[in-house]
Amino acid sequence: MPHCRAQRLDQLPPYLFVEMDRRTQAAVAAGKDVISFGIGDPDQPTPDFIVERLQAAARQPANHRYPPGAGTAAFRKACADYMRRRFGVTIDPDTQVTMVIGTKEGIGHLPLAVVNPGETVIVPEPGYPVYTASAVFAGAEIHRLPLSPDRGWLPDWDAIPPAVAKSAALMFLNYPNNPTGATATLADLQRAVRFGREQDVLIAHDAAYADVYFESAPPSILQVDGAMDYAVEFHSLSKSFNMTGWRIGFAVGDARVVRSLAALKNNLDSGQFGAIQAAGVEALQHSDHPAVQAMKKIYRERRDIVVDALAGMNICVTRPPAGFYIWARCPDGYASMDFCAKVLDETGVVIIPGAGFGRCGEGYFRLALTVNADRTREAMDRLRRMAW
Ligand SMILES: *Cc1c(COP(=O)(O)O)cnc(C)c1O
Repeated sequence: MPHCRAQRLDQLPPYLFVEMDRRTQAAVAAGKDVISFGIGDPDQPTPDFIVERLQAAARQPANHRYPPGAGTAAFRKACADYMRRRFGVTIDPDTQVTMVIGTKEGIGHLPLAVVNPGETVIVPEPGYPVYTASAVFAGAEIHRLPLSPDRGWLPDWDAIPPAVAKSAALMFLNYPNNPTGATATLADLQRAVRFGREQDVLIAHDAAYADVYFESAPPSILQVDGAMDYAVEFHSLSKSFNMTGWRIGFAVGDARVVRSLAALKNNLDSGQFGAIQAAGVEALQHSDHPAVQAMKKIYRERRDIVVDALAGMNICVTRPPAGFYIWARCPDGYASMDFCAKVLDETGVVIIPGAGFGRCGEGYFRLALTVNADRTREAMDRLRRMAW
């Protein structure tokens, strides 16, 4: 028998979303009118000005060859210009930024580039499942950092055991947060950098939703004094510009970390298609384009429809200031998987069990605002008619 499956794959937590997927497909096959708020994948197309840039760039033969691994000079400059314009942060485009093939790829590879086997990675819970997976693949120990609503889904720094802080090499944070919709203030990020400095822990801040906001603009961790020596931040074009299929983002921050990540990636991938990078430049240069503003208006309308409806059903929910998720409590007595399965069975509405984001997500469900307003209203009407 050949080896067909490495043990590390069995160390991954069970992917609860697969179970919801299976149930959803069964419902569709049974002819149910399914309305899915499952996956965080924008329903609107990429803005025309970005697609047009791709079309022109695809015709340039220079883009048909291997691209530079860390990103084209033009792409890295556009990242630096964006960081300055959006956050007032100065970045050296040659040493402090590297392109990633989507932040999922960058995050997935970061522990392999900066963490030794047996060292600890601190992973917030509930959280994006890739943080745990990437730490498992690097042979790291995982410390789950519970986030709770009474602290606004921010870490309780004093509750991190000293032994964990001492052995930790890396900590993931994510604001605006998926799945909770929580945001961090600059003071919150200052506290994170202080932890990094005091404990010699690299803080990896996932800022995938930095440009999807409805109130004040969320800060970058690199705005914090001294952060450049303790932090790396991931930015994605996926959510801000409806470009999930294009696979492009960037890692920015501590030059030593950026160099390690780029060195690892040099041995694994050969960058991203030059024409996609050219289109990425176009996007980053117009991060406040009317098309981007229009998207935020669409999400805000959907957010208000859902939050008002759920609150009217006595479901405990907050109105998120950023991101495109609604995070709400299951009615009393329901485990999240049971509640989501019941909702799907009785209404054809797909919502995601909070337990899929880690144990601290148990008792919650997540809904992605990727369904148009009329269908969202229809889904809320169905929920209202349901009894629990
Ligand atoms: C969607 C998402 C990502 C991945 O984005 P890509 O750049 O498309 O890989 C990363 N982090 C969080 C929290 C996300 O929700």
